Amino acid sequence: MNILVIGTGYVGLVTGACLADVGMNVCCVDIDQVKIDNLKKGIIPIYEPGLDDIIGNNVSKGRLHFSTSLKDCLKGTDVIFIAVGTPPDEDGSADMKYVLGVAREIGMYIEDYTVVVTKSTVPVGSSHKVKAAINESLQSRKASVEFDVASNPEFLKEGAAIKDFLSPDRIVIGIDSERAAEVMQAVYRPFQLNGFRIIFMDIFSAEMTKYAANAMLATRISFMNEMAELCELTGADINQVRAGIGADPRIGKKFLYAGTGYGGSCFPKDVKALIKMGSRLGYDLRLLRSVEDINNDQKKLLFHKLSRHFGGNLAGKTIAVWGLSFKPNTDDMREAPSLVLIGALLQSGARVNVHDPVAMHEANKYLGNTVTWCADLYEAAQGADAIALVTEWNEFRSPDWQQLSAMMVTPVLFDGRNIYDDVQLHKAGFVYYGIGFNSATTDMKNRVNGNL
Ligand code: NAD
Repeated sequence: MNILVIGTGYVGLVTGACLADVGMNVCCVDIDQVKIDNLKKGIIPIYEPGLDDIIGNNVSKGRLHFSTSLKDCLKGTDVIFIAVGTPPDEDGSADMKYVLGVAREIGMYIEDYTVVVTKSTVPVGSSHKVKAAINESLQSRKASVEFDVASNPEFLKEGAAIKDFLSPDRIVIGIDSERAAEVMQAVYRPFQLNGFRIIFMDIFSAEMTKYAANAMLATRISFMNEMAELCELTGADINQVRAGIGADPRIGKKFLYAGTGYGGSCFPKDVKALIKMGSRLGYDLRLLRSVEDINNDQKKLLFHKLSRHFGGNLAGKTIAVWGLSFKPNTDDMREAPSLVLIGALLQSGARVNVHDPVAMHEANKYLGNTVTWCADLYEAAQGADAIALVTEWNEFRSPDWQQLSAMMVTPVLFDGRNIYDDVQLHKAGFVYYGIGFNSATTDMKNRVNGNL
């Protein structure tokens, strides 16, 4: 099959590489000339484990190509995947200008029957707008070419994108024609051999499924963060509560971690877009407004804890921030909680040392010379008054606490992901703060102060 993928970001590049890997002939198109030039030279624009190998392998086998020209790649294409960005508009709704721009361009050049698939996350009804935009272009050039639209939302997780694409939990496809269903079935047949399910549905429902999935996951996170706050106030421990509720199969263990709030390119913008979709139709999505509010507050939590510890005065303090990307195994900095913490620290006059194993180059675009860039976690902690762990990369999991304690001005640790053993840290001389429980060290202080 001949596949054209438009947009070579996290979704487009992974889609193109994985479809080439199962034997399809794939052309990936992007308007970003530098990105395409780099891809042709084997330079991958994003950090995604395994992606460089899969791209290299398929380029060398002649199945994967890169271009800036949609027109040049279109000839003989069976399926076009639109995977361009849908960032939030000024009012929070999904900005459709890139998707519709691509649709108009497709209409300018298609010659034969093609299935045009929206993979970008788009509001309900967008695939019909894509169809209308293609038809407009066809009419403007007085051409009559048959085509179908389909919706095939992407559920991959950054950091595990290759595995998610090659072994998906499910593949959701919205169609309104049998012919399109057959073509999409053929695209995903190699993945079905492993027993993964294709769920066919109508186009509106497929578009809504993507938003509903992200909204549900964001809700779980905000729910746990709200419970964590209450745990701290009551003396309960969110980690134990998580184990207790996660053992119920109706709840399940995943996505029950308290932390510094959700970030990334998807949850924040998709929750916002869903709220906007509702309000345009006169429906107030109260639950999701709370999910968003809780998350915005959660991103400030580490700063409030730090500020409280230092008696409200962080001026002149040096804080080491471990981890910058919005989650481990990606360099994606979009809506990263680290940016909120660092912004607040700088505002209050603190100096900030940062280290991230992969995302420093990307983070530099946001932080420039406002922070001190450190080669590793020890360099970041040198002379620091406190450490704040924001992203739980593997390399942060088991540092030498004795060494760290000796090199810091005051050994204090704010564990934004609850990955450390507070008792071990206490033994190494640290004051420890987690999220959603009173640790041995803070607990003791509270008892002395009569708070417990
Ligand atoms: P991205 O910003 O990483 O990449 C988008 C790419 O599209 C960019 O390289 C940009 O240059 C290109 N582009 C824009 N206009 C173009 C045009 N006219 N022609 C060709 N290329 C063009 O975006 P992403 O993170 O890959 O997300 C893409 C879509 O997939 C979004 O709707 C997003 O919500 C959705 N999505 C993202 C993820 C994720 O984890 N990143 C997961 C599931 C769904």
